Amino acid sequence: MHELGIIQSAVGMALETANTRGATRIHALRMRVGALSGVVPDALTFAFEVATQGTLAEGAKLEIETIPATCWCAACQREFTSEDFLGECPACHAISNELRRGRELDLVSVEVS
Ligand SMILES: [Zn+2]
Repeated sequence: MHELGIIQSAVGMALETANTRGATRIHALRMRVGALSGVVPDALTFAFEVATQGTLAEGAKLEIETIPATCWCAACQREFTSEDFLGECPACHAISNELRRGRELDLVSVEVS
């Protein structure tokens, strides 16, 4: 389960942030997860509970913002959300080869006190 590795590094960064700010508690982590990142949000949540046990982040909330796959159609000069991940423009049915969003896997913010 590679979600555990991802979460361990995110929790590691959160612990560093808490350290830097002299915080004693981590309340929440916010992550941005693209639809094409290959990560399952439920698995992330589960891994988070495991990875935070016995740390400052134990009991913290993991907020996941899901980013849909968004492609650019050069013919129509517009962005569209690709539901099926094939990248077919809903207007002209051309296959886009430019994915603009959807592979994100970022720790966005950490709430500490
Ligand atoms: Zn188009």
